Amino acid sequence: MFCNQCQETLNSKGCTKNGVCGKKGEVADLQDRLLYVLKSVSFYNLKARAAGLNEEATDKFVLDSFFATLTNTNFDRQAIESLIKKGFKLRDEIKAKLPAEMISAEKDLPAVATVTPESVESLDVAVHSTQDEDIRSLRELLTYGLKGMAAYTHHAYVLGYKDEAIFEFIEKGLVATTDDNIGVEALIGLVLECGQKGVSTLALLDKANTETYGNPEPTAVNIGVRDRPGVLISGHDLRDLEQLLEQTKGTGIDVYTHGEMLPANSYPAFKKYENFAGNYGNAWWKQNEEFEKFNGPILLTTNCIIPPRDSYRDRIYTTGVVGFEGLTHIYEKEDGIKDFTPLIEQAKKSKPPEQIESGTIVGGFAHVAALSVADKIIDAVKTGKISRFMVMAGCDGRHKERAYYTEFAKALPKDTVILTAGCAKYRYNKLDLGDIGGIPRVIDAGQCNDSYSLVVIAQKLAEAFGLKDINDLPVSYNIAWYEQKAVLVLLALLSLGIKNITLGPTLPACVSPNVLKVLVENFNIKPNTTVEEDMKILLNQV
Ligand code: SF4
Ligand code: SF4
Repeated sequence: MFCNQCQETLNSKGCTKNGVCGKKGEVADLQDRLLYVLKSVSFYNLKARAAGLNEEATDKFVLDSFFATLTNTNFDRQAIESLIKKGFKLRDEIKAKLPAEMISAEKDLPAVATVTPESVESLDVAVHSTQDEDIRSLRELLTYGLKGMAAYTHHAYVLGYKDEAIFEFIEKGLVATTDDNIGVEALIGLVLECGQKGVSTLALLDKANTETYGNPEPTAVNIGVRDRPGVLISGHDLRDLEQLLEQTKGTGIDVYTHGEMLPANSYPAFKKYENFAGNYGNAWWKQNEEFEKFNGPILLTTNCIIPPRDSYRDRIYTTGVVGFEGLTHIYEKEDGIKDFTPLIEQAKKSKPPEQIESGTIVGGFAHVAALSVADKIIDAVKTGKISRFMVMAGCDGRHKERAYYTEFAKALPKDTVILTAGCAKYRYNKLDLGDIGGIPRVIDAGQCNDSYSLVVIAQKLAEAFGLKDINDLPVSYNIAWYEQKAVLVLLALLSLGIKNITLGPTLPACVSPNVLKVLVENFNIKPNTTVEEDMKILLNQV
């Protein structure tokens, strides 16, 4: 096993026995094989695409299987083995459909095209196996960005939104990581292109979410509990939430969000449910202690599961791409419905959640809501009431060093406003940071994909101030990352020309010194240091 795809990788180098996340070495190896099979599928599907013979089921398979390899998504050995098997079958079916002239003689085909269920077990297929340090670094960076893209594309897809150009780029990128003719320059180009396609992906998901569920509205979200039993839902999948609310309506069961599902409380389509009770707890890494206290069943919809404790294991349900051995998985039926009866029945027999917090937190400032008060914001900047915006989007995680973000938020001057999205917000969204003339000092746009909203807000502000370059705005970026969705968000920000990002708590382990040099020279990315040092730099930018 070798895995270095997330920020918590062992010693900032790589997990080599079992993952810090709880992923077993055996599952990590299987995920590497699955990734290689996806490259093989993509090799032939790009040809099928060129011949007009590709099928959407292949795109869906690639998205879902790729997503299963993200951090904290699928720990289930059998589920990964079954995807490998399906992948080979699909690959062979695509190959059989291709006109003979599109397939070279076996001896001229690259290894990725000829891999078999037997040979994949002995090949060293891990992305880390590339010898050249810089090529390896760029292949890894591209792979992790593509993982984020596959995950966000999956979220849009379940709502019926898709983009062929994104499917094709994912396949092209996967195949490119196996091609020894693609050198450093071309790989840098692909990594940057991944960022550009990342912007389209985030825009697609924004459209999918808002056209389906309405534009988020500023909302005070309850963080206390009611006196009825509840179901807790975590992850990103809004369609799962919709079905859960529909099925629990009128049953006396409340629904609470956890972690990255918090922003769902601000969508008009969900606010209408009387049994939608608020948010319980904090970011993903606190689930052990918080799930224990919740008392009722918990649904994990996407990439936020950590190995459950025995004490609440029988209350955890997975769905979609999530998997964990021994837990009940809720499958989608042919009509697209997931039957959540087992959770509802278990909830009926459960105690209400134990109260761990009380009060409210405010969210729902996606681009439409934030820009509806643009005049107020612009006026506050012009009159000096707001001196600077600090984008503190991204992830939370278990490492103690992340207390930095709470300290940083507390130390910010009172005339600054934090713009946030993603689970990083849990480090400061319960502090009483006040407001500036009615504008909250923490403007929360939503999930990590809603970082797109922050970009739209920045672009509109730049227009309003007559600035050609978005970097001339009084906006600084102190971003926290954890997993591969955040890698895509970072690449998307870079592709929009955003410079001077401070990134922490550590830089991605896959970045080689030369690749870092490229990032520094072109984008002036820097690792975070101390609150004092970073504050000095970030407050004094342009
Ligand atoms: S996902 Fe992160 S913690 Fe888990 S094995 Fe990979 S690098 Fe280690
Ligand atoms: S904010 Fe980060 S950790 Fe949280 S779901 Fe998004 S990428 Fe993952």
